Amino acid sequence: MIELEDLLSNVLIYNCNVADLAKIRKAYKLAEELHRGQYRQSGEAYIYHPLNVSYILSEMHADCDTICAGLLHDTLEDCDITKEEIASEFGVDVANLVDGVTKISRLNYSSKEEQNFANTRKIILGITTDVRIIIIKLADRLHNMRTLQSKSEFKQKENAIETMEIFVPIAYYIGAYKIKSELEDLSLQYLKPDSYNKVREQRIIIERDSHDCLEEMLTQISTILNDNDIPSDIKIRTKNIYGIYKALSQGGRMSDIHDLLAMKIIVDKISECYLTLGLVHSKYKPINERFKDYICNPKTNMYQSLHTSVFGEDNRIVQTQIRTHQMDQIATFGLTAYWDLNQGDARTRMQEDLREKCQFFNSLLEISKVFGDNQDFVKQVKIEVFSNKIYVYTTNGHTIELPVGSTPIDFAYSIHTDIGNTMVAAKVNGEYVPISTKLHTKDRVTIITDPTSYGPREEWLKDVKTTKAKRKIKEFRRNFTEETGA
Ligand code: MN
Repeated sequence: MIELEDLLSNVLIYNCNVADLAKIRKAYKLAEELHRGQYRQSGEAYIYHPLNVSYILSEMHADCDTICAGLLHDTLEDCDITKEEIASEFGVDVANLVDGVTKISRLNYSSKEEQNFANTRKIILGITTDVRIIIIKLADRLHNMRTLQSKSEFKQKENAIETMEIFVPIAYYIGAYKIKSELEDLSLQYLKPDSYNKVREQRIIIERDSHDCLEEMLTQISTILNDNDIPSDIKIRTKNIYGIYKALSQGGRMSDIHDLLAMKIIVDKISECYLTLGLVHSKYKPINERFKDYICNPKTNMYQSLHTSVFGEDNRIVQTQIRTHQMDQIATFGLTAYWDLNQGDARTRMQEDLREKCQFFNSLLEISKVFGDNQDFVKQVKIEVFSNKIYVYTTNGHTIELPVGSTPIDFAYSIHTDIGNTMVAAKVNGEYVPISTKLHTKDRVTIITDPTSYGPREEWLKDVKTTKAKRKIKEFRRNFTEETGA
């Protein structure tokens, strides 16, 4: 069981500021007093929940205010204290964070269903004001999922579904892979216990069988890197249970999962990533079509790494992931890695990157603008953002993320409204195609524009998937009709 001292020693690893530690102690003391006499369904004292939430946050190296807010996150809702009181004791930032987390779950609505949609909207849009609110909410959900045993079967399933539909995509979009994979496995455990147990056993067997061969490979690679004066840190990982379950349920066989076993090779500099790649390939033959350069082409959630699947010892297929320490931090913690990278004000950096680098962020704002009704909003987010995506390229190699079923028209509007409004034709992979053609991952898309074009037609509306394209086409048509009286 985690105690206050465990939390503090975890914080001490990255933050030795005496004032910060005293503030965390004080927040714990207040939370403990306020929750005294409250118990969780498991029977343990309530304080262990916020304490664990902050412990999870400390593993991400969260800043002091976030840790304090984690400790106090349920006090506004369940105890006798106001936002103003929290502000005067701990500052406005902590109060806003606690309030932000609370607002997500405290609104009063006429029906349970309407309340759920309103909450979900709040959760999703919370990310736009201060991403730390969502990170606390993710830690809160993670601890609730870890302790779901004491809830009824109905509650377990309900929570697991909501986790898969809302929290897993959010964790993915902010790049927090560590939390994402644990949430997926916990959800599967409650949603499909039989499949979960079966895959879990298979995974144990695979880890046992491949252990020697991976250790041998690790030794070989670190020797080669040492000989070439490239300092490295190598780790072995097996795909998470949900990931394997998903690959198998799509008809694949265990032996076909190219990233079932992975070796993470972490080096200091980008140039060393490419040197390492060459050295790995000279020792182990790569599978040609399994090479990806996410360093030059980062994923839309900022993930960077070189991926190459090779025939390892025993001809076992092993994916090697080659990246720098900084990229590894981002691959594990996503946006929250800024807490650890010490590049100026972490909070501002997170919010900036979210706005500029994460394409889903703008889709969320767009959908929020168009859909006033909470239920419609949540439905649209699920269809357009939290669903399967395709990734296509612009002519200069930039990656664009779009919902499945998108066409060159969606692509044009996602680049810029003017490009959509003056589009006259489209090429995919160098060939002219009808602009209603459905795009696929890896397509290279070129939009041909003409400033004297007639503009978007009414019938384009049936060929677009994204809210932005729909809104922009309607807007243009409305202005057009007004001007021409047509
Ligand atoms: Mn909570």
